[in-house]
Amino acid sequence: MKGLLLLSGGLDSSLAGRLLLEQGIELVGLHLESPFGCENTAETMAAELGVPLLRRPKGDAFIDVLKNPEFGYGSVVNPCIDCRILMFTIAKKVMDETGTSFLVTGEVVGQRPMSQKRDTLYVIDQEAGMEGEILRPLSARLLPETRMEKEGIVDRKKLFGWAGRSRKPQLALAKKFGFKTIPSPAGGCLLTDEHFRERVTDFITLDDGRSRENASLLRHGRHYRFEDSTWVILGRNEKDNKALDEKISGLGVSFHPEGFNGPSVFFPAPLPPHMDEIVYGALWPHFPEHERGYTPIPAKTVWGESNHILSLEPPLEESPFLREDHWTTHLRH
Ligand code: SF4
Repeated sequence: MKGLLLLSGGLDSSLAGRLLLEQGIELVGLHLESPFGCENTAETMAAELGVPLLRRPKGDAFIDVLKNPEFGYGSVVNPCIDCRILMFTIAKKVMDETGTSFLVTGEVVGQRPMSQKRDTLYVIDQEAGMEGEILRPLSARLLPETRMEKEGIVDRKKLFGWAGRSRKPQLALAKKFGFKTIPSPAGGCLLTDEHFRERVTDFITLDDGRSRENASLLRHGRHYRFEDSTWVILGRNEKDNKALDEKISGLGVSFHPEGFNGPSVFFPAPLPPHMDEIVYGALWPHFPEHERGYTPIPAKTVWGESNHILSLEPPLEESPFLREDHWTTHLRH
């Protein structure tokens, strides 16, 4: 009998998988990808465990959940309960595809204030139609017996009864198992990061989440929202520029300083009519000849597969985009 391991790439789900592999249970790994993107070690940990890994997107349904979570948000804009229900619902379909007959997660009772309280776990399982079908090896002995334990597929005595936020037992077990990689505890969810609260809120309110692919842009660069909800992203460094260049293709337009160092400027669609004015304002302080006054600035613009060099003419001197404080006021964290 095979199980489906929900593998975030964090340490807990990897240990949960390893505990079952130790019992001779075959596993298939499943990593669910957030529309916001995240750096994770799912691939590495699947290799560490020696299990095949499937990837599936959480997709548009996740944006719907984010905009209007039935069970509300956690401490930032993280709709954890609804998110878990959605994840288990997707996993249920993947179980049918893969011929796996139960789900395994790395959840630890009480580790996360919102979604990992004991009572909440029951609610999540019920809402996802997975009661008794989700095995949580790290906390199993604190939870009611699952079907897999009752049927003797899994030996409950070899599972754990961990609770709380301490990471010590996890690290000790990883050491005992000889893990070569020790991933971070959380999966790097952007929605739990206070620094992204404003950006995510803008995304689900100002844009109404319509251009859903734009979600992948939120993680990179410095973001500005001007009065008419014009959205501008400035690359802070080469890494930002590279990531945004890859993602913006098909989603919007980018402008790059030509022949001098300065930030790349990205506009996710819908595009504002005054892009040139905004780009000029963003590049002007970095233009080597800016001390000579408002002179034309060379820039390269890229739109999908096409690109061309243009000379940006100075806007009117009263343009707010020439003022640093206008940019500072509209910076979104
Ligand atoms: S932390 Fe993020 S990925 Fe994890 S349950 Fe909450 S919203 Fe979902």
